[in-house]
Amino acid sequence: MKLLGNNPAFCFINNEWVPGCSAQRVPVINPSNGEVLCEIARGTADDIDIAVMAAQAALEGDWGRASAAERGRVLHNIGAIILDHAEELAELEAHDVGKPLKQARADVVALARYMEFYAGAADKVHGATIPYLNGYTVYTMREPHGVTGHIIPWNYPMQIIGRSVGAALAMGNAAVLKPAEEACLTALAFGELARLAGLPKGALNIVPGFGAEAGNALAQHPLVRHVSFTGSVDVGKLIQESTAHHVVPLTLELGGKSPQLVFEDADIDVALPFLVNAGIQNAGQTCSASSRILVQRQIYDQIVEAMTQMYTDLRVGPAMDDLDLGPVISKRQKEIVEGYLDRGRDLNLVAKGQVSASAPEGGSYVAPVLFADVPPDHVLAQEEIFGPVQVVIPFDDETEALAIANGTQFGLVASVWSRDGARQMRLAKKLRAGQVFLNNYGAGGGVELPFGGTGLSGHGREKGFEALYGFSSLKTVAALHGS
Ligand code: ADP
Repeated sequence: MKLLGNNPAFCFINNEWVPGCSAQRVPVINPSNGEVLCEIARGTADDIDIAVMAAQAALEGDWGRASAAERGRVLHNIGAIILDHAEELAELEAHDVGKPLKQARADVVALARYMEFYAGAADKVHGATIPYLNGYTVYTMREPHGVTGHIIPWNYPMQIIGRSVGAALAMGNAAVLKPAEEACLTALAFGELARLAGLPKGALNIVPGFGAEAGNALAQHPLVRHVSFTGSVDVGKLIQESTAHHVVPLTLELGGKSPQLVFEDADIDVALPFLVNAGIQNAGQTCSASSRILVQRQIYDQIVEAMTQMYTDLRVGPAMDDLDLGPVISKRQKEIVEGYLDRGRDLNLVAKGQVSASAPEGGSYVAPVLFADVPPDHVLAQEEIFGPVQVVIPFDDETEALAIANGTQFGLVASVWSRDGARQMRLAKKLRAGQVFLNNYGAGGGVELPFGGTGLSGHGREKGFEALYGFSSLKTVAALHGS
């Protein structure tokens, strides 16, 4: 933990490390062994207020005066310094979140890519001129909202900081970040690296702590002009209520029950690794995980058999052992997943992976589980489990596949496996999802690709250029100068 010193129990405000107002701390547990990794500050509403005021001051200071090109240059420098510290960040994330080292390394690269993408995009968001009445010139321009609030979860701290804080800073907002209490060390390290890379003071402020305290205070703060939230549906609804109070725009990314539709003409060899990896990546704790595999009956037995074999070979162990899966984030999360497995006792459990002998007793390990022949309306085929559990569901034809695919309250990601181009196009139109993949699946991937959902999956889009529109507001200027 070189980057954070021996004690990361501070808030990052105005480019300085300050103790939280309450002086209370929250222990951070290493999910690989159940031991206390360190303590973080228990940020309060007062800390949030100080952070928001620092962000507001930054907008009126150096950061607010920076040109779009200058903002881009700083983001570029942050991307470079992240890559310089890649291994340290990856190890920090692996210890904190429990994800296998190779996944943590991939997350570091993604974080750097977000910085690079938004660095390049910062000065390329143009307005338009609009033909209007004679004697007028009308044009539009994009302006930052002001102070933006970012409440993020523990599953992909680095990636979510990249897509949310990166886009907000590119557009000239000043950000206040509330990382998750379960895993926030790379968020804090990001603050330090941003400072070293030359980000002006106050442009980014980080207050760790509990959701109901620091998170709630951030969502309700009257000077926060946009909130970006990634997390559970229940908390998303609370945030929507909080922001409604000040009529503040909001991006909600709340998860899903994303299906992959596998037709009898699919290239099965290409499909299989995608089918499984999209379910077990990050131990299934991925908003865009594919937890439902819909398979046409002609190839159903073949797919179930192949997936069974793949599941039986999966190994779960400590993050630093770098196996297929790490532990889930906490004992509580393990209990939630096991609760679902219990509700699936009546189902056909066809395969289970193995927890490695090297996994310490105190870790929160869950062996990945595959169920077949699952009725589409079963709770395991309807609710987001957020653990390494996939269900396989048979279908007869395209109409039935579509009805099953669209038959949950979520709508985040879907994929179609078929060589029939017309079918791909039909389904891409009709699937209820923010992203549709044709003959591939991109759980969490794609810095350049707009991402977000419908229904209980949330609203608004992050990633790609689309995020830059979300993190800015459009002003129309109409000048009457006469002909
Ligand atoms: P999970 O159940 O997966 O931990 P949550 O939705 O509870 O996901 O948490 C996601 C983020 O939201 C975390 O940073 C958490 O601290 C924060 N959070 C939790 N409850 C609230 C709340 N009432 N108001 C604002 N933020 C919250």
